[in-house]
Amino acid sequence: MSATAENTFDIVILGGGSGGYACALRAAELGLSVALVEKGKLGGTCLHMGCIPTKALLHAAEVADTAREGQQFGVKTTFESVDMNGVNAYKDGVVARLYKGLQGLVKSKSIEYVEGEGRVVAKNVVEVAGRQLVGKNLVLATGSYAKSLPGLDITGRIMTSDQALFLDFVPPRVVVLGGGVIGVEFASVFKSFGSEVTIIEALPRLVAAEDEAISKQLERSFRKRKISFKTNVKFSGVTQSGDVVSVALESGETIETDLLLVAVGRGPVTAGLGYEEAGITLDRGYVLANERCQTNVEGIYAVGDIVPGLQLAHRGFAQGIFVAEHIAGLNPPVIDEMGIPRVTYCDPEIASIGYTEAQAKEKFGEIETYDYGLGGNGKSQILATSGFVKLVRQKDGPVVGVHMIGARMGEQVGEAQLIYNWEALPSDVAQLIHAHPTQNEALGEAHLALAGKPLHAHA
Ligand SMILES: Cc1cc2nc3c(=O)[nH]c(=O)nc-3n(C[C@H](O)[C@H](O)[C@H](O)COP(=O)(O)OP(=O)(O)OC[C@H]3O[C@@H](n4cnc5c(N)ncnc54)[C@H](O)[C@@H]3O)c2cc1C
Repeated sequence: MSATAENTFDIVILGGGSGGYACALRAAELGLSVALVEKGKLGGTCLHMGCIPTKALLHAAEVADTAREGQQFGVKTTFESVDMNGVNAYKDGVVARLYKGLQGLVKSKSIEYVEGEGRVVAKNVVEVAGRQLVGKNLVLATGSYAKSLPGLDITGRIMTSDQALFLDFVPPRVVVLGGGVIGVEFASVFKSFGSEVTIIEALPRLVAAEDEAISKQLERSFRKRKISFKTNVKFSGVTQSGDVVSVALESGETIETDLLLVAVGRGPVTAGLGYEEAGITLDRGYVLANERCQTNVEGIYAVGDIVPGLQLAHRGFAQGIFVAEHIAGLNPPVIDEMGIPRVTYCDPEIASIGYTEAQAKEKFGEIETYDYGLGGNGKSQILATSGFVKLVRQKDGPVVGVHMIGARMGEQVGEAQLIYNWEALPSDVAQLIHAHPTQNEALGEAHLALAGKPLHAHA
């Protein structure tokens, strides 16, 4: 089919997940003509298989724990059981409402939404359902899939997050392979739902991308919650007989379980989509892009999980918006990857931004750190949670890392990211007033202390 006006766009976007749809919405707002190609559901992984459904499960998990722990607060509650049908109805309802809203939003803009599996067939053409969409610019946003390991087939009671999101029962025993973000979030959910949980992690610590102090605190908290974990140990094989899975480890140990959740990371969805044929440079399947999200082929951009870096929805949103503005000629400022907030929603929650202590030492040489324990924070005492706020600053310079752990601490990442991204000095933050009694005060107190004027803390 030849390029006709109705098949020619300023931007053709392949993939309607966080990165792709954010780009489409912003581009339409800027008056650019846009085609958005999606083979599954608008909203992608985040809305249907990732952020939103997992956080609904984590909230149900919190409700279960609250029911169990009422006595601690003088309230007579008892925990009866988790009804997975009810949990799924609640979770699916949340997803459905957001999905409907997003569909309405895309419909309300002048975006040509094209359903079907697309493929890049030339430097400026995406073919979908026999139609050739010509773009002055192409944006690749095909996202990621749950990886497995060699010899580990996803079948029956061996699952990734894709299947685990739709369980209609609570397994008595769960082994989680992988102690990264997705692994510890699911471990937290299963434990709260009543499963006996063991995490297997090949690296020396859980959430290994976080500051070491955060891993230590999480491990302490998980031990307290009776979530077992084995670090520095590798998976060696698995067998499945009926509903029982036997997980063998390189240490020689075998663990029997009712469900094996494989959470060993996510790989880019780029195979067979014509990227290499179009001359785009890939590295182990990832699309390489510069700080302006440009691939090596002029006019082709890549955003979201297919680009090496943090696989987070808000990074995808930011990159999608960036590309739309760049194409519209607005010359937006480039995105600082270190300035992207990171939250892990297990109990206790982890929130961080910027450099860990080890990374900061390597990058800046001389640094200072300060840990403010939540023990001194009124609201955290009220919530009966422990944890800390850890600050990392360049010696006599700005705060370059904020690392927090404790119930609900994810909510504090908003201010932490302003501090990092505005290159605030501890003294700049120390003069801001934090409402009492909030957990937000812990962030303020940590800065007061680092600025040399501690209030509810020892110097
Ligand atoms: C269990 C889980 C929990 C998560 N929790 C969080 C969280 O709490 N916070 C957070 O920030 N991030 C979270 N994430 C990560 C987040 O979901 C991703 O970073 C985000 O979805 C990436 O957006 P994307 O646009 O790059 O890709 P995706 O959202 O994967 O979207 C890609 C889209 O492209 C479509 N597509 C692929 N190939 C084609 C093709 N050939 N033709 C047409 N369409 C195609 C797919 O159907 C999909 O809809 C989580 C992920 C998982 C799996």
